[in-house]
Amino acid sequence: QQSSPLPTAEQYVDDLYAQDEQLEFVLQSIRDNGMPQISVKRGYGRLLTLLVKMTRAGRVLEIGALGGYSGICLARGLAKGGTLMSLELREEYAKLAHENLTKAGFGNTVTYMTGEALPNLEKLYAHNERFDFFFIDADKGNYPNYLEWAIKLGTPGAIIIGDNTLLHNKVMDPAEQGNNVRRMREFNRMMAEDPRLESVMLTAYDGLTIARIV
Ligand code: SAM
Repeated sequence: QQSSPLPTAEQYVDDLYAQDEQLEFVLQSIRDNGMPQISVKRGYGRLLTLLVKMTRAGRVLEIGALGGYSGICLARGLAKGGTLMSLELREEYAKLAHENLTKAGFGNTVTYMTGEALPNLEKLYAHNERFDFFFIDADKGNYPNYLEWAIKLGTPGAIIIGDNTLLHNKVMDPAEQGNNVRRMREFNRMMAEDPRLESVMLTAYDGLTIARIV
């Protein structure tokens, strides 16, 4: 008798939760448009919603929108009147994300800024925009820069989450010396040592690090 392969812990957790039509729709739209299937996982998305809720964040900034999966999860955590600012390199991704957030009822909650995130972060700072929750999930080589900007743009007590901080376990392999790996190590060190932050790095998923601006 053939036994079916055991699910991974991640699959097991994801299967505990009921289908989520809004998020399934996002994943389908990403597949239909031939976009990369690299949205956060279901359990991870639930963590984002809970963290926004638990911290009562009102102004959330996301770097890396893709099709709006994590955007919906973040927006779900906001209380009435809360806002999400989402930075996305590609016009067509931001357009799809906006359509998906609108379908999910968050069309008026979210604002997209397209193009390279760095100049947009500078613009937000110059316009005196401040945020109390950050989700960093874009190009890995800029993570340390994004972290500096988050610290500048963050209110006291603001939360900063960095995704993919294990970088497929490359960060702990000294043989890996590519730019993204070196920059992610730099980010992880900053999160761990910068006196402006208190943080914890979790080894779930591809690694996620949660910090609070002291
Ligand atoms: N957070 C999304 C989710 O879980 O639904 C997934 C984001 S995906 C991993 C990374 C995104 O960052 C892509 O949509 C990519 O176009 C965007 N990106 C890459 N480089 C960027 C840059 N320099 N500035 C802004 N966005 C960038």
